[in-house]
Formats: sequence, structure tokens, C-alpha cells
Amino acid sequence: MGPHAAAVELRGIGKRYGSTQALDDVSLEIAPGELVFVLGPSGAGKSTLLRIIGGYEQPDQGVLSIGGRRVDDVPVHRRDIGMVFQSYALFPHMTVADNVGFGLRMRGVSAPARSERVAWALQLVRLESLERRFPRQLSGGQQQRVALARAIAFRPALLLLDEPLASLDRRLRDEMRIELRQLQRQLGITTLFVTHDQEESLTMADRVVVIHGGAVQQIAPPAHLYNTPANPFVASFIGEMNVLRGTILATDGAAHEARLGGLTWRVASDQPLALGDRVTVCLRAERIALTSEDSATSATDTDAPGTPANRLPGAVRFSSYLGASTLYLVELSDGTVLKVVEPNAAGLARFAPGDAVALAWSADAAMVFSE
Ligand code: ADP
Repeated sequence: MGPHAAAVELRGIGKRYGSTQALDDVSLEIAPGELVFVLGPSGAGKSTLLRIIGGYEQPDQGVLSIGGRRVDDVPVHRRDIGMVFQSYALFPHMTVADNVGFGLRMRGVSAPARSERVAWALQLVRLESLERRFPRQLSGGQQQRVALARAIAFRPALLLLDEPLASLDRRLRDEMRIELRQLQRQLGITTLFVTHDQEESLTMADRVVVIHGGAVQQIAPPAHLYNTPANPFVASFIGEMNVLRGTILATDGAAHEARLGGLTWRVASDQPLALGDRVTVCLRAERIALTSEDSATSATDTDAPGTPANRLPGAVRFSSYLGASTLYLVELSDGTVLKVVEPNAAGLARFAPGDAVALAWSADAAMVFSE
């Protein structure tokens, strides 16, 4: 952890624009040096949250502390925060070095100290050789690195990133993710990163805050979020998910039967469920195994005891080849269509539209949420 890493605490933050509740009772603690992602669909309130922390916007309710101090009355330039926006907004008439040194000059740092800091920041983002160029002479990725250098040059205690990679192409984005992550670790700077890209948040974050409709849905490390989502929204926002609604038909301890569409599924849940309960069942596409119909009829039951399998016939309706895997849409006998993702063992898809298949998954592969 760097000497400048600040803890951040939000308690009961609320913000309303006219009739829109942009943020609703948001509470969150970020440890010094942590990389926390704010993930949610467009309009969820992510940017509003970041702007409030940055001091560009005042909350209607709640308390915000940075580095253990309430900052309600502290203006933007006194909050010791570096910020990078989606549109990196470099000054076009200034060189790279002047862009990076801008915040330092505003803070009254002397010219010699400034050039030392600029060199330090540019070397961190590997742009030291381009300091005399103008923004128009740089690629998108280079411009984004200048914006990053500008945000860290004055060694802020907190870094706020609002979709900073959204305008880069795929390959550059992947590279920048790794660079950003390494730089964040190296500096030990507390960082809040806003994105609507679930993959980005899963690959980079220490913890992810999922928000929707201005409200926090779950705060957890990526693997926890993926494996034990708090509700159907989080479950279906992350990964390829099948979401079905129905009722509980039978229960026996943690084993249950649910009526979903026109079929009965075996599901498992530690939560108490009663006959007739309305439930939402979420089953990840990669948890379903496909076999050709012939082999399914003679398949032996390889499931662990206590997790009875679901085995249902289906027909492939659509397949989408993704290189390492194939996504299938498979129709069950009741007309329900399930997404199934299968790794391509030999680099090829095994099934084609029209193929008759059998689908199998264990009862505990599905997540059950009471309504
Ligand atoms: P996100 O960053 O997750 O896309 P925002 O924080 O930008 O979401 O917006 C949250 C909600 O608040 C949206 O419904 C948006 O339309 C609304 N909103 C944001 N800023 C303003 C504003 N300045 N005036 C009115 N409504 C706003």
C-alpha cells in the first residue's frame, strides 16, 4: 500500500434528479489500496456515484469520507483525487508533458519539481519518449495513457476512472486492462473504476459493487459474485444465464422439485422453500452438458449422491461458434429455450441446428431465488 492510499466510506448516499432517484441509500467502504469496480447497466447511477465522490456533484443525503475525513464541504481540487473520464479530454494545444503537468501547475508545484513528476508519471505509462508530442499525434491508446499519467502525476490518494477504456478497440482494451491493473498495484493507490462491462470487472477487480436503479445489489469479490449472486439481477447480469420462473412442487430437505414452464426440474437450495412458493431459477449456460440423444438413453448416472440429475431431451435450434466454445440455443419439449455453452474440445462445434440432443445438469447447478 502506498503512503497516499486513502480509505473511502459512503453511508446512506442519496441523489435525485427531478423524478429520477439516481442513487438510493448507497453505503460502501473501500480499503486503502483497493481496486473496486462499480458495475451496472446504463442509467444505473454509476457516474453519479463517481461524480459525488469526486466532488463534482453534491449528494442530497448521506455522508462521504475520504481518508477518514468528511469531505462534504471540500471542493474538487482539494479532495486529492485523480480522475479519468471516458472521453479523455486532453488539451489539444498542449504537449503531452504540459498536459500531464497541468494539475501540478494548478497546485502551485515549482517548475523543476513539476518536470520531475511529469517524467515519473510518463515513465509509469511508458510514454517518456513522446513528451513533446501533441494529442493529435498520438493513437487512442496513447492518449488514454496520457490522461492516466495526468491523473496520477500529483500522486492523488484516490483514483476515479469512469469507463476509461470504453473508446478503445478490443485488443488495446485488453492490453490496457493489464497495464492499469499492474500500475494500480505498483502505486498501491485506492481506485474506483466504473464500467458496464462485466468481463472487465471480473478480470480486474478486488471487489465489485453491482448497482441497478441507483441501489447497491451486491458487493463482493468477482468469484463470489459469479458463484453466489445475491439476487436474479446479479445472477443474470454476469455471464450467460438461463432465467426461469415457476413454483415449488415438492420439497425434501434441501432437494426440491420446481415446475418451470411445462416441465419439472430438480433443484437444490439451502434456503427454506415451501410448496407453492414462487421462485426464479437461474442456470448458467456452461453448467448444462449436452450429449447426442442416443448416448443419453444409455448414460450412467455419474452425479454425486444427493444431487439427482436433470436429464431432458431437446433440439438444437441455433448455434454460434465462438472459437474456444460454442453457444447453443436448445428447445425443450415444452418449448422452453435454454442457452448452453460448451467448450470446443477439438476446435469444432459438435452439434448443428436440427440435431436431437439430451441436456443434463445436476440439481445444485441451478440457483433458486424466492420471490
Ligand atoms: P450510469 O453512469 O450508470 O449510466 P448515471 O449516473 O449517469 O448512470 O445516471 C443515473 C440516472 O440519473 C439516469 O436515469 C440518468 O438519466 C439520471 N441523471 C444523471 N445525471 C443527470 C442530470 N444531470 N440531470 C438529470 N438526470 C440525470
